[in-house]
Amino acid sequence: MLLKTTGASDHNSTFRRAIFQGLAPDGGLYHPSELLDLNPILDRFDSDVTFQELAARLTYGLLQDELTMEQAQRICSRAFSFSPILVELDKSVSILELFHGPSCAFKDYGASFLASCMEEFLDSPSGRVIILTATSGDTGSAVARAFYGSEGIDVVILYPSNRVSPLQEKQLTTLGGNITALEVEGSFDDCQRMVKSSFTDSELNSKLVLTSANSINIGRLIPQAFYYIWGWLKQNRREFYYAVPSGNFGNLTAGVLASTWGMKVPGFLAVTNQNDVVPEYLATGVYTPRASVQTLSNAMDVGAPSNLDRLRAIFSDDWRYMAEKIHYEVVSDAETLVAISDAMEEYGYTMDPHTAVGYVGAMRMARENPDSSITLVATAHPGKFPEVMERALGDSQRLPQRLEELLQKRKESIKISNSVASLRSFLMDKFAHGNLQDTQ
Ligand SMILES: *Cc1c(COP(=O)(O)O)cnc(C)c1O
Repeated sequence: MLLKTTGASDHNSTFRRAIFQGLAPDGGLYHPSELLDLNPILDRFDSDVTFQELAARLTYGLLQDELTMEQAQRICSRAFSFSPILVELDKSVSILELFHGPSCAFKDYGASFLASCMEEFLDSPSGRVIILTATSGDTGSAVARAFYGSEGIDVVILYPSNRVSPLQEKQLTTLGGNITALEVEGSFDDCQRMVKSSFTDSELNSKLVLTSANSINIGRLIPQAFYYIWGWLKQNRREFYYAVPSGNFGNLTAGVLASTWGMKVPGFLAVTNQNDVVPEYLATGVYTPRASVQTLSNAMDVGAPSNLDRLRAIFSDDWRYMAEKIHYEVVSDAETLVAISDAMEEYGYTMDPHTAVGYVGAMRMARENPDSSITLVATAHPGKFPEVMERALGDSQRLPQRLEELLQKRKESIKISNSVASLRSFLMDKFAHGNLQDTQ
């Protein structure tokens, strides 16, 4: 699978190279350079194929120029000790639950696959790479869990002191091993600035191999397409719309990729909270990025969604064509709260605030088109958002046990100031010394 970039150049790359680069040299995002036809592979699956098996066959189908079937199987069995669950609410509405991984949100799929691929393809001169990542909370915990114990990879996570939730902090700081949590006395923006400047620090980069694992990495996008295909096969390839609660639009882009590969669904429903720049684009063809506003579904508070560039590339920059395939709905916080209690009353189903945004959109679509079937993508476990669940239902939800246990563990972090120099000296002290010894 050759990749090209959404940037201005005609640079291209293999998947192997692209996952260690993150962004393309021209600053654009990598995406498949041609439409692939995976029908010959899809035709052979039946509806009870396991997620891991499906992932391995598709990985091989996509990357056969770069790896063997054994490698594809090893990558996927290391990455996916968890799988999606399909729940039928009624004859026309199903839910594809993606929160059964280690951090209880769908980002586990992308992070685990990327970690496993990096482990497989690692060939730096020192035999080690350092993943440097800034987090405002959730992404960092999926990354930390995914890379925990990876051979040859160290992870350094920067998070703003006192500005992540207690549960998020425990997810970042209790793993130990190859995961180091840096507690930065500053904001998330400081963390990001420090990480960015490290990537352009030439002396640092001459001593260490630094790379990122952020959400725009193509290695996180590809595996997200797999669960859309799994959910479609599980429902015997019937016709339905996928409704996707969206923020940075990576999840939706992955679904669209799956449909270009051969998953035959009539279309998608992108549902956003009040951060509605993409719905506006789909309505008018005009894209106006702006500062995000805070909502109850805060993992979707994105004012300049980077994956829109990938969607535009897939649809040849034709917004009317995109709007034929991607319908949209915009949902308020008040509606989100009502939806959580409605779903509980109507179906006895508990959904988190992000999934609830998607539910409002899906219900609107179902009312307008009573014949349509919809599969709603559930992005996180409701137990992760106790305050919102309490407001909506009057009682908070129990955390999944694997997160509950974390709260008892001891936090281990290293406090550093919000200066580029302090990150630099931390990295040099901890890693450059060891590397010099390795090469002697
Ligand atoms: C990241 C996230 C989203 C938004 O997904 P995008 O790919 O950014 O559109 C939705 N729900 C939850 C729980 C998330 O963590």
